[in-house]
Amino acid sequence: MTLSSLGDEYLATVPTGRSVTPHWESGAEFRDEIFVGGLWRRGTGSLIESVDPSSGKIFATLHGAVEADVDDAVDTGLCAVRQSGWADRLPHERAAVLHRIGALIDAEVEQIATLQTIDTGKTLSETRALARSAAATFRYVAAAVETMEGAVTPSRGSYLTMSTHEPMGVIGSITPWNSPIASDAQKIAPALGAGNAVVAKPPVWAPWVTLLLARICERAGLPAGVLSVLPGPGRTVGDAIVRHPGIAKVTFTGGTDTGRALAHVAAEKLMPITLELGGKSPTIVFEDADLDQAVAGIMFGVFSSSGQSCIAGSRVFVQRSIFDEFVNRLVTATNALELGPGTDPRTQVAPMVAFSHRDNVSAMVDEAVLQGAKVLCGGMIPDEPRLADGAYYLPTILSVTDNSAPICQQEIFGPVAIVLPFDNESDLVDQANDTVFGLACGLWTTDFPRAWRIAKAISAGTVWVNTYKQFSISTPFSGLKDSGLGTEKGRDGIRSYMNQKSIYIDTAGQPLPWARTADNR
Ligand code: NAD
Repeated sequence: MTLSSLGDEYLATVPTGRSVTPHWESGAEFRDEIFVGGLWRRGTGSLIESVDPSSGKIFATLHGAVEADVDDAVDTGLCAVRQSGWADRLPHERAAVLHRIGALIDAEVEQIATLQTIDTGKTLSETRALARSAAATFRYVAAAVETMEGAVTPSRGSYLTMSTHEPMGVIGSITPWNSPIASDAQKIAPALGAGNAVVAKPPVWAPWVTLLLARICERAGLPAGVLSVLPGPGRTVGDAIVRHPGIAKVTFTGGTDTGRALAHVAAEKLMPITLELGGKSPTIVFEDADLDQAVAGIMFGVFSSSGQSCIAGSRVFVQRSIFDEFVNRLVTATNALELGPGTDPRTQVAPMVAFSHRDNVSAMVDEAVLQGAKVLCGGMIPDEPRLADGAYYLPTILSVTDNSAPICQQEIFGPVAIVLPFDNESDLVDQANDTVFGLACGLWTTDFPRAWRIAKAISAGTVWVNTYKQFSISTPFSGLKDSGLGTEKGRDGIRSYMNQKSIYIDTAGQPLPWARTADNR
């Protein structure tokens, strides 16, 4: 099935004025093919039915991979990095390929964004931004790889000592459905840039854009076999990747329970693993905050992407002196948010990725209400007829008095914010840190010494002050506590796909004295 087979009605909603005909091969986006060891072939695994969450209609089907494909992909990946010379290619030569991948992504932003919007429901403005960010990631990694240096370390004898970095081999990349092209780029670009092969497993709910990225990598001149893309279920294909003895490292983004299970397997193999996991991030409004800025930032932080974001600022702590005024403003602004399909440029809150996920979010809210949470807005599936066919959920604000309520402790991964009052800094820090997660935090205040104090006191990998959900590929990203293990992005993120090696080179030109050879006796 191709994009154009979706019909004129769909195409009329693509607001770009550009053709959506694929630039490389007509219909390539939805070909029923997976990418194993440099070859496109029909999968023999279970059938994936891709549903447009704004209409409930199946727009494409794909046969997924099976465990045997993992063996093929890893074996070919190992050969490919060696035989193609990818691992030994000079950094500026690898960088040239990454630059071309970035340029091709940029040239195809509309194509990629449209594909991802159909697959995930997200707004086109968001999927365009994700595609541009993926291009920027490849360019950043290209520049960083080309300029990375090893070290000549201070010597303690007659030898030259060096610290160098080498590729690891084949990297397993396992990603979730919420921001596919950006998650892929964040893992695949540094892993390739470091000279590795990659076996990528995209999620069942959003496999297409990763397959499209593989076609772009092929066009950019990435040697055959260096990248494989194996869509399929996590419990079979994903599990086989993590357990495979030829996989040197796994980089995973997804839920905390899944990440913990993968970490056990990695421990058995003594294999490094990077985990980017779930969150329940606090966002904090002090009485001296610019309230317009805070309302806009908090809404963006929790309701953009329909709340399907690991860093969603889902616990909103408001100083008691402004609690009523601030919450009223937040509720009024939230009620005015525009719901609709991701293809409509007016849409702020698009459908959720899948009906079953929407229903889980709805059930969690219902349960919270039974346990005493008060619904300040939303709290239900919208009843507007125009939204009846999509996986929509109203942006919701719940009020609870106590951060120990289950709804304050569990990740919802939907458009649901919980407001809680606080009295002073120590009460706030105790409550904000009272969760198993430690991913992100937002602070809204004009008192900068206070912003500094609280930023240091909160257990989170990222803290935003008077802004939220802003990212830079050059700035490391990591989660504390149950939110993750290891770091992505930045130069350290690239190094995490390399083995460090120390080399000692003798400069004396003499046998070591201990051996007492004829010359030194
Ligand atoms: P998930 O854990 O269900 O799945 C993530 C990926 O892991 C999918 O590709 C899935 O098929 C695969 N998988 C599942 N079981 C597996 C197994 N046993 N072995 C190997 N692979 C397996 O998560 P999800 O529902 O796709 O994504 C939502 C979660 O991701 C949320 O918890 C969210 O917070 C988290 N997330 C975290 C970040 C971050 O950077 N910290 C970013 C985005 C999403």
